[in-house]
Amino acid sequence: PQVDAAEKTYTIGTDVTFPPFVYANSNNKYVGIDMELIRSIAKEEGFKVDIKPIGFNAAVQSLSSGQIDGVIAGMTITDERREKFDFSTPYYKSGIVMAVAPKSDVKSLKDLKGKRVAVKTGTSGATYANSIKDRYGFKTVTFDDSDNVYNDVKNGNSAACFDDSAVLNYGVKTGLGLKVVTKPTDTGSYGFAVEKGKNKELMAKFNSGLKKLKANGQYDKIIKKYTGESA
Ligand code: GLN
Repeated sequence: PQVDAAEKTYTIGTDVTFPPFVYANSNNKYVGIDMELIRSIAKEEGFKVDIKPIGFNAAVQSLSSGQIDGVIAGMTITDERREKFDFSTPYYKSGIVMAVAPKSDVKSLKDLKGKRVAVKTGTSGATYANSIKDRYGFKTVTFDDSDNVYNDVKNGNSAACFDDSAVLNYGVKTGLGLKVVTKPTDTGSYGFAVEKGKNKELMAKFNSGLKKLKANGQYDKIIKKYTGESA
């Protein structure tokens, strides 16, 4: 495609391993729903993106200190985050679920008494786990990326983990080696984020591009490609 010298480049922070939203494929290229959305929107709206796969918490921190222009990383729109960030139109729904090792007999929150639970730094799954840990008598341990969270459960160091249903359910289908034992307790939606009151032009372009992708069927195609399900 032709490169327009006048096209603006925005720096976009993202997670490293959060399939089907963002992950590196076998060619070490970042793919997934979020990557295809941002790239298609950029194309549609005439801007360029410089993707920085720095991890979820690092991306959110970099955004709040103005080091990057936006974050797309399966980021849940929450009231607390709205104080610091502006969010796009929601583009995907996901709640939080608990997952355990395949042979575990942990079936519910009550079974977590005295146990250790793995969560990812700065996520809504971590906030949720921390909000109920005293009531259910468990401890949390944090990791910076999802792979380490899941491995801690798989190797038996943690009895369970809390993460997004859209990601864990996809993991179950694609051989992650964990099972989901609860229904999504807290439903939220993912949005693209910019620093509050800043980058209004980028946000307007994102929303306009998303609307076009929804109207022309490309959004559905991307969701279907990565989840096998209709949007
Ligand atoms: N949706 C969760 C959040 O916003 C997790 C995001 C992620 O781990 N990439 O906190």
